[in-house]
Amino acid sequence: MITIEQARKDIRELLEFIGEDPDRVGLQETPDRMIRMFGEMFRGYDPSQKPVITTFPNGQDGIIYDNMVVDCGTFYSVCEHHCRTFFGEYWFAYLPNPKGRILGLSKIGRVVDYCSSRLQVQERLVQDVVKMLTEALGEENPPFGMALMMKGRHMCKESRGARKSGMMTSTCLTGAFRRSARVRQEFLSYISSPQ
Ligand SMILES: [Zn+2]
Repeated sequence: MITIEQARKDIRELLEFIGEDPDRVGLQETPDRMIRMFGEMFRGYDPSQKPVITTFPNGQDGIIYDNMVVDCGTFYSVCEHHCRTFFGEYWFAYLPNPKGRILGLSKIGRVVDYCSSRLQVQERLVQDVVKMLTEALGEENPPFGMALMMKGRHMCKESRGARKSGMMTSTCLTGAFRRSARVRQEFLSYISSPQ
């Protein structure tokens, strides 16, 4: 376990390594600021910060919902190869089981945020999110399928190296979304293409 004092020292050395003077006025507080920022950016390693995923029995309020539920939003993560930001938009969908449970809508974004808050590759991020949401709905009467698509801009590709802009798309499909072209097509019809 690395102490805060050690982390502060390591960041100072990293600043020196890139040719900086860690004692100049503008940088004196930088190691502490970075340590505080890491606590937020990398909270996905801390199980105590795992979001509690509220679910409801389908039909609880007199309506059994068995159509596709779609949610979308933004995400920010850090690539594990270069420790550079990648960020973009996601689209999530699932087909609730009439005998199963329904996800609290705000929880989807919280799971995306939690899984994004560690060093990631976009291919694993989509899987982590789907796995956590699948587990939350339980093994008894699971949903008929889940889908997640993420489109991300990777700063390690855009601001260095290849220096090419453009989106990377990754998907994770389970159940009916994997088996049925019709279900997949319905999901894709909800997705707008940000450019
Ligand atoms: Zn990278």
